[in-house]
Amino acid sequence: MKINSLSGKIAIFNKNIQMQANKLNFSNEINKVRPGTVAIIGIPFDGNSSFLKGSSLAPRYIREAFHSQSSNMCTEGVMDLDREPRLLDLGDMEINDYINDIQSPVFELLERGAKVLSLGGDHSVTYPILRAYRKKYEHLSILQLDAHPDLYHEYEGNKYAHGCPFALIMEESLADRLVQVGIRTMNPHQQEQAARFNVEVMDMKHWDSSFKPVFDGPVYLSLDMDVLDPAFAPGLSHYEAGGLSTRDVLRIIQGLEAPLVGADIVELNPKRDLHNMTAMAAAKFLKEIVEKLLK
Ligand code: MN
Ligand code: MN
Repeated sequence: MKINSLSGKIAIFNKNIQMQANKLNFSNEINKVRPGTVAIIGIPFDGNSSFLKGSSLAPRYIREAFHSQSSNMCTEGVMDLDREPRLLDLGDMEINDYINDIQSPVFELLERGAKVLSLGGDHSVTYPILRAYRKKYEHLSILQLDAHPDLYHEYEGNKYAHGCPFALIMEESLADRLVQVGIRTMNPHQQEQAARFNVEVMDMKHWDSSFKPVFDGPVYLSLDMDVLDPAFAPGLSHYEAGGLSTRDVLRIIQGLEAPLVGADIVELNPKRDLHNMTAMAAAKFLKEIVEKLLK
């Protein structure tokens, strides 16, 4: 897709958005972070995508959708995020070194007492984020919503590929528990990996919409947009039929009872989106996640 048609899409949103879409000066903005801040950061990185590029464009599109005048900025719990002083958008990070350029700023935000909501990028961003989280949180569980287990030991020679982050995370014991929901692409290798790391897998074959994951300590939510059925989300790199509905995902987020301490929204591919409908779904999730992070 040409840059021209991308900027054409932006014109349908309000002026505000242009400002939001620009890179903020991360190092200046970070001084505004206080304990209790929910810090949104964009990670425009798709260097570890194995199939299609495009998710590096997602942070800008999710922000546009979040601020779009086609909706408002309230959660379904009627929290008005437009009037929420604890919510701070720090703009996009510049990624040259995949691990350090993500891990270091996230750790700095955690040290300042923030909770971090990252907008990816491909799913490989979760590994450096969790390296930062683990230094801060002694007890941590991960809830991964995804069509894919992302448990490959390596993929096409790349151990950092977006199909691998949860193998790295579990090998390095960056979480005590990994609960995966929405899985529908398990294969024998990843099944072995899941057994090796004691991953708790709720696959789509056994999906029941009353399912509610239960945690007893801090939870990190990693939301791969392809957990959604492609019917709800055309803006994805990997179309895996038979997925969750947007409402199923909202119900899981809204039903979380353990404290949510961080989250990422990854794998939105704006190049394949249709009228920004997947970006709007991501923005809807963003709002509900922010409400949980603020509680
Ligand atoms: Mn994934
Ligand atoms: Mn996926």
